[in-house]
Amino acid sequence: QKSAAQNYIDSVFEQLKQKNGHQSEFLQAVEEIFLSLVPVFEQHPEYIEHNILSRIVEPDRIVSFRVAWQDDQNQVQVNRGYRVQFSNVVGPYKGGLRFHPTVNESIMKFLAFEQIFKNSLTGQPIGGGKGGSDFNPKGKSNSEIMRFCQAFMTELYRHIGPDVDVPAGDIGVGGREIGYLYGQYKRIRGAHEAGVLTGKTPGFGGSLARKEATGYGLVYFVGEMLRDAGESFLNKTVVVSGSGNVAIYAIEKLQHLGAKVVSCSDSNGYIYDPEGIDLKVVKEIKEVKGDRIKTYVDYRPNATYTEGCNGIWSIPCDIALPCATQNEIDGDSARTLVENGVKVVAEGANMPSNLEAINVFLDNKVLFGPAKAANAGGVAVSALEMAQNSGRNYWSFNEVDEKLHNIMRSIFAESKEAAEKYGQPGNLVVGSNIAGFVKVANGMISEGV
Ligand code: GLU
Repeated sequence: QKSAAQNYIDSVFEQLKQKNGHQSEFLQAVEEIFLSLVPVFEQHPEYIEHNILSRIVEPDRIVSFRVAWQDDQNQVQVNRGYRVQFSNVVGPYKGGLRFHPTVNESIMKFLAFEQIFKNSLTGQPIGGGKGGSDFNPKGKSNSEIMRFCQAFMTELYRHIGPDVDVPAGDIGVGGREIGYLYGQYKRIRGAHEAGVLTGKTPGFGGSLARKEATGYGLVYFVGEMLRDAGESFLNKTVVVSGSGNVAIYAIEKLQHLGAKVVSCSDSNGYIYDPEGIDLKVVKEIKEVKGDRIKTYVDYRPNATYTEGCNGIWSIPCDIALPCATQNEIDGDSARTLVENGVKVVAEGANMPSNLEAINVFLDNKVLFGPAKAANAGGVAVSALEMAQNSGRNYWSFNEVDEKLHNIMRSIFAESKEAAEKYGQPGNLVVGSNIAGFVKVANGMISEGV
């Protein structure tokens, strides 16, 4: 016999599938949250009365627009731009911009939906949004990137603002792109509204420690998981996928704390360095040269490079941190990690483990840190950047880093507590979903329909 709560959740999901059957990433993100919420709805019939779930899966609005720009050969190119403004219950819409050829409405909606609960978990006043384009920045010149960013902002500016919607970076969008986007916004608006975008360069309205925040925050979160289990980073072997902003600063912090990181990757393949990755080399390749990770072996002859991405999960390790992209760990990769003795998995990317993989980890008592808790450090420091912009006052690196550390501690504590309160102790997937959701649902009830 199913409870009323279970019937309600099933029926909302069924309707959603009928409407969005082709949006597989979005449905996957919704399903993961819905599975966690059954005990919450059993204890809070008012959430059913207010039909919270049907409302929360429907974005406030989706803006979709043409971006036309001129390449270096003077050819006109056309891409699609998006901004999904999902929920502003907790604060202005907030979330990154992704420039990647795979971007489509399903991916934008899954990311914006996740962002609602992640942002709520940070305890900062930020709602959920996401945007981006199917533009492929790979191989583009600096001027092409600038012209694309300007064309993108020429449409986006009318939909955003420091108290309305505050974009930032994500895959394919870093400090350089945010600079070009911000310059164009300022030209059009004729005002220095620094809080309209985050991830700006420090010295020009950006916060110190924003670049490091997602990676450092991930490692602070894993530190809490380990501490809670009576463990530490000392002598742990770690595999980190990706080699972007999240991966690089996770590796930096892991090495500070005495862990040995043996691998990282890009979308073509992965490197394995049994003596431990030389981060200076990775930074030189990715941040200075903008090159592929396979060139790492030119600097470090004892390292090896393997084409393809799945193989990275067959490297034996104590801790695995997927920091590349969605659905990079499936059930098989998860089983391989478990067979090789992984003890902790925490997600630096958004939704890198599919549902089957998550279940493999939980069933095998692997400590599992879900993305919306573990990678919330980036957006948390974005909120601190907004606070500094509004206060016209900038904090030191250590001040921001300490606030970040405290935020990650409290995300862990709240997620752990919610998991216990709703009968699934130790399950941080359920705990973070519930802790993030409850604040938003209560906000929706008090703000009315
Ligand atoms: N793109 C990051 C995320 O997935 C950061 C977003 C932000 O700083 O607004 O959370």
